[in-house]
Amino acid sequence: MAGRFAPSPTGRMHLGNVFCALLSWLSAKSKGGEWRLRIEDIDPDRSRRDFALQLMDDLQWLGLPWNGEVVWQSQRGDIYKHYLKQLEEAGLTYPCYCTRADIMATQAPHETDGRIVYAGTCRGKKFDEMAQNVPHATRFIVPDEDIIFQDGHYGEQCVNLAKHCGDYILRRKDGAWAYQLAVVVDDALMGITEVVRGRDLLLSTPQQLHLYRTLGFQEPTYIHHPLLINENGQRLCKRDKSLDLSVLREKHKNPDEIVGFLAFCAGILPSPTPLKPQDLLPMFDWQNVPTKDVTACI
Ligand code: GLU
Ligand code: ZN
Repeated sequence: MAGRFAPSPTGRMHLGNVFCALLSWLSAKSKGGEWRLRIEDIDPDRSRRDFALQLMDDLQWLGLPWNGEVVWQSQRGDIYKHYLKQLEEAGLTYPCYCTRADIMATQAPHETDGRIVYAGTCRGKKFDEMAQNVPHATRFIVPDEDIIFQDGHYGEQCVNLAKHCGDYILRRKDGAWAYQLAVVVDDALMGITEVVRGRDLLLSTPQQLHLYRTLGFQEPTYIHHPLLINENGQRLCKRDKSLDLSVLREKHKNPDEIVGFLAFCAGILPSPTPLKPQDLLPMFDWQNVPTKDVTACI
């Protein structure tokens, strides 16, 4: 089996990212699997190579080594193009000329966790000569279908694609590849059999499963984990500078302190005790990981 960590290099890693890395590492390694690293640098406006290199240094410092070559999404445009073409030829895509304002104006008031569900305005438009010259995104047609799957931590999930996701973007207007296409193609081609990631991506999973099925790939299992939150109940993010690794590495010269603290957050240890990831392997059990988000005060 193989797990993976797929960070976007848009800033220094913070405690929440390390939590995700540690859980996916423990989950894969405790099953005797490999743990692969993919740098999700497809967004040229936000990704930086120095953040990616720093992130690898941080993983090594923490004691989370990965197996094999690092995969960089920015180098895989031709591969994404191949699979997009397959979907286009199957008649499953259409060009979308909408602006953000157009999309907001047609936004249906669905229960979508604040996500934007595209109303399908451009559905039925064909790729023609003219369309080639006008900037457009490419959308994937989703059926009005329930996707049911078993999350390894949150149990059975049932999501209606049309209602909760809508036709989604495979390639952006500016030519950048969309996360949903890249993540599915890469996880499949990298032989990933277990995807561990934050529960904020739980609603992306049905979209990805539908793409897996359409492209004929073997599906991985999905295990979502709770998020780390601050005292105000907000999820940790790159803006919480006090919890980014530049500050934490300065404050905790010993990486085992950070690992031990996160193991406590994950229900592995009864109290934060400095330990190496390797030492946690015999104690790791998803059953003990909370499902509720965890307040992290390190
Ligand atoms: N690159 C995504 C992120 O940093 C994670 C994608 C995934 O795990 O599927 O949030
Ligand atoms: Zn449109």
